[in-house]
Amino acid sequence: MTISATQTIRIDLHCHSTASDGMLSPGDVVRRAANNGVTHLALTDHDTTDGLAEARQAAQESGITLINGIELSCLWRSLTIHIVGLGFDNADSAWTEALTGQAQNRWQRAHMIDERLRKLKVNDLLGKATHEAGGDVPGRPHFARVLVSEGVVKDSAQAFKRYLGAGKVGDVKACWPSLETVVGWIRAAGGIAVVAHPRKYKMTATKLRALMKDFAAAGGQGMEVLTSGQSSGDLGFLAELCRREGYWASQGSDFHFPGPSWCELGRLPGVLPDGLEPVWQHLPGIQAGT
Ligand code: MN
Ligand code: MN
Ligand code: MN
Repeated sequence: MTISATQTIRIDLHCHSTASDGMLSPGDVVRRAANNGVTHLALTDHDTTDGLAEARQAAQESGITLINGIELSCLWRSLTIHIVGLGFDNADSAWTEALTGQAQNRWQRAHMIDERLRKLKVNDLLGKATHEAGGDVPGRPHFARVLVSEGVVKDSAQAFKRYLGAGKVGDVKACWPSLETVVGWIRAAGGIAVVAHPRKYKMTATKLRALMKDFAAAGGQGMEVLTSGQSSGDLGFLAELCRREGYWASQGSDFHFPGPSWCELGRLPGVLPDGLEPVWQHLPGIQAGT
């Protein structure tokens, strides 16, 4: 599909559904995006592509273009980094196998979080968190919701601040594969790897440049330049880094559910600055007019 220069396009290449820690079904995410005027959407659930079939069906009905997406967790210098994969072949057998391994990692991690939070004495914490995740493997947001409903904390923010956030007892990160590994999976399945929300890791500029260098050496090509929850200063900094090093620029809301905690689908804080090469020019199905 080619988009003419005059056509209005709205692109959102990062969001979540109930297939991971979002609260809307994949179909509802797509319909909501379409209602918000999104023309090209990538559903990027954490470490799973289970939502893509339902999303694709809804995308066909809503007349919007769905790009295969995922957000993979990995480790770089003992930090958890999120890599968005776009436009991969979801039927590729090595890819499918890698995702099965990643699901096992997530379950192992869920068990470890459960164990670390034993001292909070919440009865059947893992079971309840799994229920929160719709029967799927729970992540930290699901544990947070249980801690809220059990009255351990007043809200999810407090759950992260006290127990689940970076450096806290429930912040388990040991089981993720390396940055090189996950970038390799995405590339081998014909996809494009993108560093998600680069400012969220709270790294110094020097460290972020080092991350991007290692990422590029592993075959990574893109970085999110326009994401939610960043300042205009962040945007300028990321745009400059992206432009200078020649990465492909991506944009996405990182929508998880409606409400004030997450950016709305397709409602990005601004536009991609000029002079960047948009990642979608390299995705099958999107050839944006210039
Ligand atoms: Mn999430
Ligand atoms: Mn993320
Ligand atoms: Mn995300």
